[in-house]
Amino acid sequence: MVSKNTMGDDGAMQGNAGRHMLATVIVRQARDQVTVRRLSRRVAELLRFTAQESIRIATAVSEILRIARMHAGRTRVSFLIVTEAAPVLEVRIEHEGEDKRGLSRLAASTESGIDAGFTSARRLMDSCRADEHADAIVLGRQLPAATRTDPASLAAVRAELSQTEIGDDIAEVEQQNRELLETLAELRQRQEELTALTRELEDTNRGVVALYAEIEEKAEKLRRSDEMKSRFLSNTSHELRTPLSSIRVLAQLLLDRIDGDLTPEQEKQVEYIKHATTGLSELVNDLLDLAKIESGKVEVYCDQIDIAALFGTLRGMLRPLTSSDAVALIFEQKDAATTLCSDEGKLSQILRNLVANALKFTESGEVRVTASIEALSGMMRFDVSDTGIGIANEHLPLIFEEFEQVANPLQQRGKGTGLGLPLCRKLATLLGGRIDVVSTPGKGSVFSLLLPIVGETCTAQLPATAAQDGTKT
Ligand code: ADP
Repeated sequence: MVSKNTMGDDGAMQGNAGRHMLATVIVRQARDQVTVRRLSRRVAELLRFTAQESIRIATAVSEILRIARMHAGRTRVSFLIVTEAAPVLEVRIEHEGEDKRGLSRLAASTESGIDAGFTSARRLMDSCRADEHADAIVLGRQLPAATRTDPASLAAVRAELSQTEIGDDIAEVEQQNRELLETLAELRQRQEELTALTRELEDTNRGVVALYAEIEEKAEKLRRSDEMKSRFLSNTSHELRTPLSSIRVLAQLLLDRIDGDLTPEQEKQVEYIKHATTGLSELVNDLLDLAKIESGKVEVYCDQIDIAALFGTLRGMLRPLTSSDAVALIFEQKDAATTLCSDEGKLSQILRNLVANALKFTESGEVRVTASIEALSGMMRFDVSDTGIGIANEHLPLIFEEFEQVANPLQQRGKGTGLGLPLCRKLATLLGGRIDVVSTPGKGSVFSLLLPIVGETCTAQLPATAAQDGTKT
């Protein structure tokens, strides 16, 4: 028969402050297993595990006890609370007797009946391990947060356990039947939930697929309208260019007095016409460039570019834009930045645009164009820095959008279409590079153009020494 013994902390656990014994049972015969199962459930219930969890614990203990009894005959089952870290219910199953029967080795057994039992127990508990020193199998399950583990509460549990009726086997079989039915009902409910979830997932999947199709369709529409916009811009720009240059030439003829003299008022008005036509021509040219790039009609002609010579040309072209002596225009080559292989026309167009902007938005100080080789990426870097009005952070992403201009008093100083920077960015991408900008309002801006030293479509060879030479201008 089973002998049940409930011990206090001053019993077997003396000197082991974090371990509190609740009950010990000696199992002598097969039917005692039923009793242990019932006791396990009772212990779990008293420790405030839910009914379902109590069944799980009782099942795990029964299963390991069944295996242990096959190897050890008389077995001792102890229920303890371990409060060293998070409080845990520990159930120790060991041979009752002096000699060791190798119970702890069972945990690693690959024999199918034993292995399956341990796998189930591990699923039902938090842990199921071997204590080789004591030759025991130890099951562990963290206590519910609401369970109290102070000495008084544990003493109350012990007292309850000592009065627990062991009961008869029939009652336990009936109880197990009820548990089985409950578990089956729970399983069926889980199955239904799973089916519902799968259905929901299928619906969501169908929705996602439909959304993807819609996005594809919208993207295709966007692509088409983008193409149409480029074609429209390119066609209208072409149509506008001829009449515009005729107007400009006619205005010049009038100003040159080819068809007779002009009154001062007439001269002023013709000047207006010429000025407006020039502005319009520039806008049309920018639009045409953008449309060409967008439609992929722009060819890149790579060749070797001597940076000193390029800077010389740019200096000559841009100096007239420096409206006063208050702004110095400086070109500087650093380190090994002497040569690169790219499309000179497009590079020059980007730099002209950036320098023209810098001069337009700088009233005093300097505009400096620096060529250097960026150590990290090995790319050629052109910095156009100014000491002008700068750009607020929130406007930085906008200025690369078509027709975007930041309102400021200097906007009126020169021509402006809001197309320069988008064009520069597209050209830089075309050349395999990019444009970055950093700016501080009131202090100035730095626009950086980064280009590969040898462009992708480049067939020309750079001189071997180009990367090492360094000159300053
Ligand atoms: P545009 O110069 O023809 O107006 P851009 O596309 O070249 O068009 O520039 C867009 C806007 O970005 C400018 O109108 C100006 O507000 C701002 N911007 C560009 N460069 C600078 C700069 N160096 N300093 C301050 N603002 C600048």
